[in-house]
Amino acid sequence: MKIIVTGGAGFIGGNFVHHMVNKYPDYEIINLDLLTYAGNLETLKPVEDKPNYKFVKGDIADRKFIFDLFEKEKPDVIVNFAAESHVDRSITDPESFVRTNVMGTTTLLDACREYGIKRYHQVSTDEVYGDLPLDRPDLFFTEETPLHTSSPYSSSKASADLFVLSYHRTFGMPVTISRCSNNYGPYHFPEKLIPLIISRALADEELPVYGTGENVRDWLHVADHCEAIDLIIHEGREGEIYNVGGHNERTNLEVVKTILKALNKPESLIKYVSDRPGHDRRYAIDPKKLETELGWKPKYTFDTGIEQTIQWYLDNEDWWKHIINGEYQNYFENMYGDR
Ligand code: NAD
Repeated sequence: MKIIVTGGAGFIGGNFVHHMVNKYPDYEIINLDLLTYAGNLETLKPVEDKPNYKFVKGDIADRKFIFDLFEKEKPDVIVNFAAESHVDRSITDPESFVRTNVMGTTTLLDACREYGIKRYHQVSTDEVYGDLPLDRPDLFFTEETPLHTSSPYSSSKASADLFVLSYHRTFGMPVTISRCSNNYGPYHFPEKLIPLIISRALADEELPVYGTGENVRDWLHVADHCEAIDLIIHEGREGEIYNVGGHNERTNLEVVKTILKALNKPESLIKYVSDRPGHDRRYAIDPKKLETELGWKPKYTFDTGIEQTIQWYLDNEDWWKHIINGEYQNYFENMYGDR
């Protein structure tokens, strides 16, 4: 089986590449990534010499490049993680989100149509459902919840999902979609909440928290997300959407305080900053379909997962310090510059 994983130099894609390369030595895993600011090949160091792993630099929205790659590699499966993924950046530059998240997806889908594919899997987000009120803890997102996006990021992801479903309906393409809640874990870019708080707290720097910190996120350890996608590409039904979440709702403030406690740092580091425009209040996923149909169950609770994650950041300071000081961007040149 030959799998192209797009966005495999990013946070979740990188963890997924590790998972697949190690679990399936007889599969060929091709990591296709443009290496934007969010792509970091240092994440792939532990697998880069494995015979079943290959890295290709390229843009999923570059039609000629993608068609040439499909012609050459004839992949069986595509797992599309590649995206502009940061909500704040989508507020300042929405168009780059349309280009990568929407047009990149349709380019991949067109290449799948042209060359044939056993499975196209789209990695999506619970943000396509919009948000839930804080005072209705009984409400959860199911796969039937209507799309109701808040940010340019979530709008671009919802558009991509609709194209994926339409290629199933119109062309009979074997597609699946997973919609996951907020991920955390190793190799998370330090602009995102959990690694930002860990790295800044370790340096005794102020910790910015939006608004009053009451927004609720449903956290899932990235290893549990990777396991879910592995199951869906092998056993998920074509044309179906699967929600992925571990029932780990926490306010942002609770998350920050948990990290401060674990690192033995004072809460006086917290600094409340003005809220993000259109900030979603609460996300909460109902993962019943994935659990009952495919037998998925998360391995981590939030408490065990955050402990593992904090320890990983303590043990891998080089990885995130290279990002903060920009050194990670030289890694491609050093590794692949003369090829
Ligand atoms: P990330 O920003 O860490 O990684 C994205 C990767 O895509 C980077 O390596 C980047 O270089 C690459 N990329 C960007 N534009 C590209 C292009 N045009 N062509 C090829 N590669 C390109 O993102 P992430 O947090 O790992 O998220 C991965 C996917 O999972 C995204 O599709 C995101 O929408 C989805 N998702 C993320 C979360 C989360 O909590 N992080 C939750 C649910 C869903």
